Amino acid sequence: MIVMKFGGSSVESAAAIERVAAIVRARLDRRPAVVVSAMGKTTNKLLAMASTAAAGRREEALGQLQDLREFHLRESGLLVAEAGRGEVHAALEEHFQELAELVKGLAILGELTPRSIDAISSYGERLSSFIVTHAFRALGIPAVHLDSRKVIITDRRHTQAAPLYAATYARLRETVPPLLRDRVVVMGGFIGATEDGVTSTLGRGGSDFSASLVGAGIGAEEIQIWTDVDGMLTADPTVYPGGFRLKAISFAEASELAYFGAKVLHPSTVLPAMDRKIPVLILNSRRPDVAGTRVVADAVPCRNVVKSISCKRGVTVVNIASTRMLMAYGFLKRIFEVFERYETPVDMLATSEVSVSLTIDHAARLEAICEELRGFSEVAVETGQAIICVVGENIRHTPGVGARVFKALNGVNIRMISQGASRLNLGLVVAEADLGAAVAALHQELFDDPDPEVFEA
Ligand code: ASP
Ligand code: MG
Repeated sequence: MIVMKFGGSSVESAAAIERVAAIVRARLDRRPAVVVSAMGKTTNKLLAMASTAAAGRREEALGQLQDLREFHLRESGLLVAEAGRGEVHAALEEHFQELAELVKGLAILGELTPRSIDAISSYGERLSSFIVTHAFRALGIPAVHLDSRKVIITDRRHTQAAPLYAATYARLRETVPPLLRDRVVVMGGFIGATEDGVTSTLGRGGSDFSASLVGAGIGAEEIQIWTDVDGMLTADPTVYPGGFRLKAISFAEASELAYFGAKVLHPSTVLPAMDRKIPVLILNSRRPDVAGTRVVADAVPCRNVVKSISCKRGVTVVNIASTRMLMAYGFLKRIFEVFERYETPVDMLATSEVSVSLTIDHAARLEAICEELRGFSEVAVETGQAIICVVGENIRHTPGVGARVFKALNGVNIRMISQGASRLNLGLVVAEADLGAAVAALHQELFDDPDPEVFEA
């Protein structure tokens, strides 16, 4: 058994769903359970519609609903054969009837609770999974629809619900494998239900998490995340186009990459899979023959010290110094309390006895933060910076990595340096203007002789 998850862009239209069907058909012998996101940008549109309705703009919200309805009816009409179309459309119309009732209710109530947000946003995956099931059948793939709310059981923290693992795994184990014996199971990602059966969601982008839960629950041999990139690369292609695809990467490395820019996979979403040592594959639904990147629980043996160079633009560095606090304790606490109060995450950090440099990504509340920090320290802000992070398990036990990195960056002004406690990454801050040259120089130094077992040039 395997799990195959297709994101919003992989199921954005009838044509995209046909590509998905071809990909699934080629892997029927592996007994796939298919998890799909909402079609294209449907979740965003449902949420916008809910806000419009709750703001009392009933007609406008019903207009937004009408657009969604026409879109889903049109694309499904292209997929389902003439004979079955009536039945499928009737079922879809029922969904839109319910949504219309919800919209009208919200317009009267004039408020949007997390619970009602989930009620509405769940329709994206409910519709897409239903449509994909029928598209598969029309294309000759034996498919059965499974309502995820029957198997993904969550707590009541609507819009950010956490799965109740024991209950979820028990339901998955008893429901899915018997169906997979002779059919492809199709289910919506992102959605679940509380123990009382109230619809909930796992948070935005939650379909990867759903796939990971399903895989862990049924003990799948592999989880495939089909997206629109070839996998993870040794460098961000928008910064340095000459990077290589990584054939395999450890979960720890993938997590470090995700924190600093690589948006391919959110590490927490694959935790259930990693706990059970189930490999997660990242694959491209537009180029299904590319072998993708395999994320595995344990370290991947590799000749090169570094697996990837990730980076993040638009970073702000805040330098905070206080001579008054020399030899005193409590300085860091006071600083971080300010960032906490303004709900601003800190990414990278370097400290000395009297000064702290840190980077932030969200500078929206920076002025107020600086104002408070100035109450007990001197503050200097540098905008237009970028983080570069070199990541690899081998950094931990290979001497001289720092020397190679700094030699490669000879001539680039490095604003900040940090090696994380995990010791599998080395982080640097440079001016955004220097980013391209810096990454190119690092790539040349670190990947001039790539290990063919790990990298695909
Ligand atoms: N459709 C949901 C979202 O857009 C979940 C997902 O796509 O993973 O957030
Ligand atoms: Mg998505």
